[in-house]
Amino acid sequence: MNAIQGLRVGLGMDSHRIASGGPLILGGIKLDADMHLVGHSDADVLLHAITDAVLSAAGLPDIGQIFPNTSDENKGRDSGEMLAQAMDLVRENGWSILNLDCVVQMERPKLSPYKGLLKQRIAELLRIDISQVSVKGKTGEGVGEIGRSELAAATCVVLLYK
Ligand SMILES: [Zn+2]
Repeated sequence: MNAIQGLRVGLGMDSHRIASGGPLILGGIKLDADMHLVGHSDADVLLHAITDAVLSAAGLPDIGQIFPNTSDENKGRDSGEMLAQAMDLVRENGWSILNLDCVVQMERPKLSPYKGLLKQRIAELLRIDISQVSVKGKTGEGVGEIGRSELAAATCVVLLYK
């Protein structure tokens, strides 16, 4: 297999509704904020986007197929555990991560103070080096569902190699 055939890109996107009252679980860590994300699992929008990106790049079924939100087993589930399990599947299929790049869209809190922690936790869950992980935060400029803090969204692009 040549170098080009041994590379796969994957894209993952997710969004969750925001409700009042903390803590905010994002990227596998607890952020100091008086809001939380609403979902069947722990609603970790960033880890869900990453999970879908790695699964998709490896040509595997998506997060909803592997961890259905109709299953009681996945209710309130730790998304870090789902991501680690998805990454095991990706590895079993012979793929490794070259790098991943993520964008979180939330009006608040500011993500800059948490960037190091977020990258570290994601790297741990994926068993890669922190230098392979990038996380950026973007606000909604006060406009739309994101700007009104009604919604949080995340996008992740990942590059795998064999
Ligand atoms: Zn989600």
